[in-house]
Amino acid sequence: MSSTPDRNLALELVRVTEAAALGAARWIGRGDKEAADQAAVDGMHAVLPTVHMDGIVVIGDAAHAMSPQLGLGANLCLADAWSLATTLRSHVDLHAALPAYVADRRAHIRWYTWLSRIMTPVFQSDLVPIGWARDALFGPIGRLPQVRRQLVEIELGGQTSPWTTWSPGTACRR
Ligand SMILES: Cc1cc2nc3c(=O)[nH]c(=O)nc-3n(C[C@H](O)[C@H](O)[C@H](O)COP(=O)(O)OP(=O)(O)OC[C@H]3O[C@@H](n4cnc5c(N)ncnc54)[C@H](O)[C@@H]3O)c2cc1C
Repeated sequence: MSSTPDRNLALELVRVTEAAALGAARWIGRGDKEAADQAAVDGMHAVLPTVHMDGIVVIGDAAHAMSPQLGLGANLCLADAWSLATTLRSHVDLHAALPAYVADRRAHIRWYTWLSRIMTPVFQSDLVPIGWARDALFGPIGRLPQVRRQLVEIELGGQTSPWTTWSPGTACRR
């Protein structure tokens, strides 16, 4: 039992949606869908980390919503579920298991959340000059073996940085 007063988590999550809506609202009628998307993402990213979820395990999009351009959200959700299940199985004490789960998932989620955030204006963007640079450079640069390997590694969904990968099961080996 927590000694802190009860909070309504749903209302706090409504604040996240509200921040996204307020950000995007400034772009209503200005004919710039990409800027409105970006403003919504920025609002969401600013408020979601401030929602403290004590005593509740939140996995999947609810824990780390991001823009869909990388096409990896479901992979991350599955990795969360797998990590949580194995961590709970390998720890007798719940109070030790949950921090171990958070530690196991931190780098993986942080990398893809950040990547998704910086790539939002690049993918599916008509913004000039970003859209032009993307259309001109992605094809030729993507054929370079090193870059191609990086892009494949990103899309496989296992990275924690360009040089490191998430190793499933590290939590249960602790
Ligand atoms: C346009 C788009 C394209 C995408 N493409 C890809 C892709 O190619 N590859 C990929 O891996 N990921 C992709 N994703 C991301 C992926 O869909 C999500 O990351 C994933 O579905 C999240 O799973 P989840 O279980 O966390 O949440 P959800 O799938 O959102 O499930 C949450 C469930 O909870 C229910 N719910 C909500 N509130 C309540 C309530 N109060 N009571 C009861 N039930 C409730 C909802 O109805 C929903 O069924 C895409 C997302 C979008 C938006």
